[in-house]
Amino acid sequence: MITTETLQHLAETHGTPLFVIDHDEIRSNYATFKNNLPRVQAYYAVKANPDPEIVKTLFEAGASFDISSIAEFETVFENIKDLSEQEQHDWIWKNIIYANPIKAEDTLRTLNKYKPLVTFDNREEISKIKECAPDAGVVLRLRVSNAGAMVELSSKFGAAHDEALELIFEAIDAGLHMEGLSFHVGSQTTNFENYMQAINMAALIFKEVAERGYDKMNLLDIGGGFPAPYDESVKPFSELAKRINNELDRLFPNGVDIVAEPGRFIAATAGTAVSKIIGKAVRHGKLCYYINDGVYHTFSGVIFDHCQYHFDAFKTGPTQICTVFGPTCDGLDVISMTEELPSDLARGDLLTSKNIGAYSNATSTYFNGFPPATIVHVNR
Ligand SMILES: *Cc1c(COP(=O)(O)O)cnc(C)c1O
Repeated sequence: MITTETLQHLAETHGTPLFVIDHDEIRSNYATFKNNLPRVQAYYAVKANPDPEIVKTLFEAGASFDISSIAEFETVFENIKDLSEQEQHDWIWKNIIYANPIKAEDTLRTLNKYKPLVTFDNREEISKIKECAPDAGVVLRLRVSNAGAMVELSSKFGAAHDEALELIFEAIDAGLHMEGLSFHVGSQTTNFENYMQAINMAALIFKEVAERGYDKMNLLDIGGGFPAPYDESVKPFSELAKRINNELDRLFPNGVDIVAEPGRFIAATAGTAVSKIIGKAVRHGKLCYYINDGVYHTFSGVIFDHCQYHFDAFKTGPTQICTVFGPTCDGLDVISMTEELPSDLARGDLLTSKNIGAYSNATSTYFNGFPPATIVHVNR
C-alpha cells in the first residue's frame, strides 16, 4: 500500500497528472494468483498494462506472458535478448502465448521462427496459420458464457461447442500442431459460474477429441477475467480459485497442462492516479470539479473498459455529490457524475484514484494536446 504521504510527496516531486505503479503490489498479486491456483501457470496479459517495467518485474518473478501484437512481443523479448538463440526459442515456447485469435499475415511470418503458441477460432485462420506460421502450436479458442462480466468478449471471439470438433480436426489435417483449448469468460468476471461452465465444456471437447483418436492435446488455457477487488461486492479470489481447483482436479486429473492469462487481476490494484483540480464551477446547481486528467488519458477505462473510478481528496471537510470532469474541450470527458467529495476543494488541490492500474494508461491518448500522465514506479 502506498501511503497518502508518499503520494503527496511524489506529486510535489514529479507534478501532476501522475500515474504511480507499485511493484510490490504487482509481485504480491502474482504470488496470490500462483499460491491460490498451484496447478495453473500464469501468463500475464500484457494488454492490461504494457509498461515495460511491469513486464520486467513479472519476468523476474517467473511469469509467462500473453501477447497480442508484435510490439507486446518485443516488450517481453527485451528481457531475454541476452540469452542464446536456442535459449530464447526454448523460453518463448514455454512462456509466450499469442492469444489474439485473429492475426495479420506479417505478424505470423515474424513469429514463425520461434514456433509460437497461437490461438485460432475459425477456418480462415487455419489456412492463414498454415501458410504463414506452419511451425506454430495452435490452441482453439472456445466461445463461452460471458454473463455478468464487466467487459464481454464472446461476441467477437470463440468457436461454438458444435463447431469445435470440425475445426480441431481441420487444423490437424492441415498439419498444424494442435495443442489444446482456450477460452475467456469476460473481463472482471464476478459470476464464477462462467468458469465452471467453460471448464466443463472444455472437458467434454477433450473427451470427444480423444474418442475420435487424437491424443496429443495437452493444454487447457482458462484465459483471463479474474476480478480485481474494486469494491466489497467482489467475492474473494480465494473462493474462485478453490472452485476452479476442484473442477480442474475432477475433470482434468492429470496429463493436461493448465495455464491462465490474468491481466486486470495483476495490474489493477498496482496503479494509483494523482490529479490536480484546475477549475471549479456550479452547473445546474451541481458542484463540478475540473481536473488535469480524464477519459482520454488515465481514466480511459471509463469509456473502453466500462469501469467506474472513485476519488479521494487529501483534504477533509463537509462533502456533497459532485461531477468530476477531465481537462479536454470534449463533452465526453466526464469521469464521474456521482462523486462524494469535500465541497470546499480549491484550485491546486489533489485527488487520488486507486485500483486504476489496468486498462488505464494503456489506452491513454494525446487528445487535445494533453499528454498522458507521468508514470512513477515505486518499490521497483
Ligand atoms: C484481455 C485478455 C486477457 C486478460 O483479461 P483480464 O480480464 O484482464 O484478465 C486474457 N486473454 C485474452 C485472450 C485477452 O484478450
